[in-house]
Amino acid sequence: MREFYSDFLKDDLWLIKENKWDKSLQNIRESQFTIGNGYLGIRGVLEGIPYNAMAGTYLAGVYDKIGSQVDELVNLPNPVNFKFTIEGEKLDLYATKVVEHKRILNMKKALLIRHTLYEDTKKRHYDYQSLRFVSLHNKNIGVMQIALTALDADCVVDINTGIDTSISNAGIISEGRKKHFRIRELGQRQEAGYLVIETLEKRHIITFWAGFYYEIDGKKHYSEDNIFRLRFKKGKTIKFTKIFHIKHYPYKRDHSGYKKKSFRAFNKIFRAEFSNLISEHIRMWHRLWKKADVVVEGQEDVQINLRFNIYHMLICAHYDNGFSSIGARTLSGEGYRGHIFWDSEIFLMPFYLFNFPEVAKNILLYRYRRLDEARRLARLEGYEGAKFAWESAATGDEETPEWAKDFDGTVIKIYTHKQEHHITADIAYAIYKYYIVSQDKRFMQECGYEMFFETARFWASRVKYNKKKKKYEIRGVIGPDEFHQNVNNNAFTNMMAKWNLITACKLLSEVKKNPSVYKKIKKKINLKEKEAKNWRRIAAGLSININKKGVIEQFDGFFKLKKVMLTQTDENGIPLIPKRLKAKDLGKTNLIKQADVLMMFYLLDDVFSQETKIVNYNYYINKTVHKSSLSSSIHSIIACRVEDLSRAYNLFNVSLHTDIANFYGNTSEGIHAASLGGSWQAVIFGFAGVKIKKEKLFIDPYLPRRWNRLIFSLIWRGDNIKFEVTNQMIKLKALSAKRKEVELGIFDKLVRVKTNKMQSFERSQIEERKEGFY
Ligand code: BGC
Repeated sequence: MREFYSDFLKDDLWLIKENKWDKSLQNIRESQFTIGNGYLGIRGVLEGIPYNAMAGTYLAGVYDKIGSQVDELVNLPNPVNFKFTIEGEKLDLYATKVVEHKRILNMKKALLIRHTLYEDTKKRHYDYQSLRFVSLHNKNIGVMQIALTALDADCVVDINTGIDTSISNAGIISEGRKKHFRIRELGQRQEAGYLVIETLEKRHIITFWAGFYYEIDGKKHYSEDNIFRLRFKKGKTIKFTKIFHIKHYPYKRDHSGYKKKSFRAFNKIFRAEFSNLISEHIRMWHRLWKKADVVVEGQEDVQINLRFNIYHMLICAHYDNGFSSIGARTLSGEGYRGHIFWDSEIFLMPFYLFNFPEVAKNILLYRYRRLDEARRLARLEGYEGAKFAWESAATGDEETPEWAKDFDGTVIKIYTHKQEHHITADIAYAIYKYYIVSQDKRFMQECGYEMFFETARFWASRVKYNKKKKKYEIRGVIGPDEFHQNVNNNAFTNMMAKWNLITACKLLSEVKKNPSVYKKIKKKINLKEKEAKNWRRIAAGLSININKKGVIEQFDGFFKLKKVMLTQTDENGIPLIPKRLKAKDLGKTNLIKQADVLMMFYLLDDVFSQETKIVNYNYYINKTVHKSSLSSSIHSIIACRVEDLSRAYNLFNVSLHTDIANFYGNTSEGIHAASLGGSWQAVIFGFAGVKIKKEKLFIDPYLPRRWNRLIFSLIWRGDNIKFEVTNQMIKLKALSAKRKEVELGIFDKLVRVKTNKMQSFERSQIEERKEGFY
């Protein structure tokens, strides 16, 4: 049978393939095959919605709460729904004999393509092909096409499509499944169906329009209904095209005007040619990849999987003026209920910052719009300034559930919201990084300084002075390593708080140079001269414990914890927790969930010497069990920097394959955002050796031997710098409309580089030369 979509199957190194039907992988594939445009995310559910399918349609920022412990991303009615029976038999992958089946995600063009050959109980065969995309050109639109051919006999086909409203959110622990919306209106008009829903608590209004037509001998027939019957002639293909339009109207009650308006927007697309819709979409994706692609020459598997990680960051990137941010499982599933953690600022943001600075800004605007809530949270707990929620959703209120499942399945009480305070410094860190890389002064004046000073105020009120030790302390926290709760002086938290306070002083001196901005901020947040003095004093008094060998103690008393020798590893070299140890007892041991001291080295790279990094890397690497998707990428980068390259490579591969290999066993609940961003960072900041040192961009590659060349681009201070890198040679072209030269650190030496011209630098040459102009 002819492949209708063969034109889209030719992009080598851009395809993720499912080559056979395996029901045990159904929900994993749904996450992996998610399509989206940042506004809308739709899981890769099979159109026939087979048994056990977990359909998922999500809109960025649309949360609701009725029946659940906390806000959750609402699973909306499913527009990807196309069920049919032939001569009374339902054809789907569970119910019918499958002779052949494949699905392909074309990441270059963001298309999901399927080809299945069914055999019914009378041994007659049916060829089923489909293609679907969520338009990047028009964020409200989704398109799907199905081409069906009865191969052996004429037949009668009953089709049931339309928008499936039987959808609900998954049940978690004590909560059963829950539906977060009710139907306000449902009907049929001008060859299309509409649906208006309203979420139960927050009263989001969402309008859906869906219509479809089928083509026989090139002639279009619009269908009057979602349920209808067609006669198929043997060997004659009928193509169905379904267009849907989904639009969200936040917090408004009157939706009468919206129906008309959204119909007009939908109808324009509905009457357009499919070929135009798809080519506009592909053209937009071409533009995205031009900025975002990273070419790894020499290793095809790495190339495809790196693109998989980047693809998933592209489909959840959005620009909505801070209305929403990106959840820990993107828009691809209900894991962590769509909540936003530090994963967004620390793991995802760098990718956007260096490729799509507007998306990075949006991540920060999301926090800025919730600064009042962060202020309220600080006050509620007796602190000053602003304290950001550990998990947040729509309002910025704390959304961490009281109960959750641990990685071994046991139900545990959660304390992260009460103690995992480092997120406030992580957000401040991201603001500063954004500023350094983008030089966006306006953002700082309008939002950044204010947020920064409020976070410094929080830390100034959070510390306690220990008279005996003559030190400031931060007691009762959880660091990034969540195995250990309620600890004192977690090194990561102390150092990030210290950095937050020092940098606030630096920014305050800067802002003072602009009297009108300073006056405005001073007035707005009632900033006092003496506060900076206090910040400086506290920062100087905040410290960490270091033993004689130079090992930094992760928190007070860590060195005294029960020592567990890890003797076994899995096939990726990840240490295995001995079976006798229960998850709840891990806190009594010196085993670590994820990068903590090493995370501190990563973020505060120029604070610590290389020697300190090596000693601590050797100490902590064998105690870390990587029970979080935030761990292996950071370890890979540090391993690169301490020149443990084979481990760097293995850990990078763990991060890279997190979801393609279902490494944590829960990809079905959505794609892990942190490993997407972490994998990109491991390539760029690890192997390519990109770093910001003293506010300058440096590059000093350590590529794995199998990589012949790495090609990527970064936006640095508004200029787009294209790199082609090997370990011995860096070629670059800095495209700039404003500057004649840029200063860059190449192979660890600062050089001034002419813009708009390809330049090559050889390691041997650079290492011999002093600073210069190239
Ligand atoms: C990790 C956190 C992370 C969260 C969401 C937890 O398991 O320990 O660091 O923010 O997952 O990804």
